[in-house]
Amino acid sequence: MSRLLINNAKAIVTCDACDRVLTGESILTEGPAIAAIGANLPDEGAVVIDARDMFVYPGLVNTHHHLLQAFTRNIPEIQSAELFDWLLFLYGVWTKVDPNFVYYSSLVAMADFVKYGGTTLFDQHFAFPRGRGRQIIDRQFEAAAALGLRFHAGRSCFTRGKKDGGLPPDELVESVDEVLTDSIRLVDKFHDPGQYSMRQVALAPCSPFSVDSTVMIESAKLARAKQVRLHTHLAETLDEERYCLETYGKRPLAWAEDCGWVSSDVWFAHAVHFNDGEIDLLSQAQAGVAHCPVSNMKLASGVAKIPQMLDKHVPVGLAVDGNGSNDASNLLADLRVAYLLHRLNSSNMAPTGYDVLKMATVGGARVLGRDDLGAISVGQAADLFMIDVNKLELVGALLDPASFLATVGYYRPVDVTVINGKIVYRDGHLTGVDEEKITKQASSAVAKIYDRVRN
Ligand SMILES: [Zn+2]
Repeated sequence: MSRLLINNAKAIVTCDACDRVLTGESILTEGPAIAAIGANLPDEGAVVIDARDMFVYPGLVNTHHHLLQAFTRNIPEIQSAELFDWLLFLYGVWTKVDPNFVYYSSLVAMADFVKYGGTTLFDQHFAFPRGRGRQIIDRQFEAAAALGLRFHAGRSCFTRGKKDGGLPPDELVESVDEVLTDSIRLVDKFHDPGQYSMRQVALAPCSPFSVDSTVMIESAKLARAKQVRLHTHLAETLDEERYCLETYGKRPLAWAEDCGWVSSDVWFAHAVHFNDGEIDLLSQAQAGVAHCPVSNMKLASGVAKIPQMLDKHVPVGLAVDGNGSNDASNLLADLRVAYLLHRLNSSNMAPTGYDVLKMATVGGARVLGRDDLGAISVGQAADLFMIDVNKLELVGALLDPASFLATVGYYRPVDVTVINGKIVYRDGHLTGVDEEKITKQASSAVAKIYDRVRN
């Protein structure tokens, strides 16, 4: 069994149940898990990393993403748009999606994520244009395996197109049967419920204005039969709230509740416009939230009531959201944004820097239904990252390692990322792939897509 000894760390921020921050201690991993933490651990047969100048953190967990958007970033025409107009423009590009588009955009975004300390990523993929191949999420699992990333795939869909009063173009709309058949195929092929699982699948119809109630109800039944989780966008914008009131005659959460979607096996992306009663309902049901502060700021969606949610013990994880509304996959950078946004909005009620770190680690893991990762403690998955803090610009900024990433911020790739006991990124190099070759292939994939979009 492979072993890794992270020796004599300057600080280990564990995010464990006792919120321990350890100094001068070591971590020994065996296979996929953390086997021991302490001083003077044996180095026999282990790859040893000298961590005397390193801060060590649990790997970051991203609870909501759209990897395909790595190829729809920084588009001049929509820099000032809000969600609905932004989507109406992008649907035009997403009708050109095929398995190759998704493979390379996933590699690009996943690589970005891993370089900044990311170790577990959930993606919600919704674009399955007719005639362009069904093996799209299959290629995402391939990309994750190449990088060594722990990957949770969300089989999303559009079932309510323009002709039925929805927002997406009809050519991106699938039937409920098509969605459920492919969902079953993906769960049976990829979902591993076991400890330290590297591959899971969730059912994730897209949003109230792009799906119908039937696919929500049937997905909930299927998810419970298959014991997988449920995810959707909810309460992201006031436009969505108005749409729900007009179309369903109720607010977004009431509609979701009618569909059987307010439960501890569900988590919602954004959750910006929930009122106090709705936050109480989430708390009672222990339904989770993927908080996407950068996306909510970029698309002017609003500020989620995260302090109230944490106060009521709603499970909350952090997320980048899709690349198109971020425009990166750097969750490390978003720690600082989340911290500052809530300081501005809620002053001394805001989460502390350490609270935000826990949201991005153990909080995200719980939202994804994982109790086997998210903290540095014995028996947890060996997912962590390390940064060398012996740098001129950091002198005087290191008093509180637990809050450091959110309060000071860290603006460059980390030094080491470890996933499931394997070093997947070290000293600027991804260990699983030829980065130069992939950069060329991905660039040529982007050029082909934009040729298709223009012609
Ligand atoms: Zn999203």
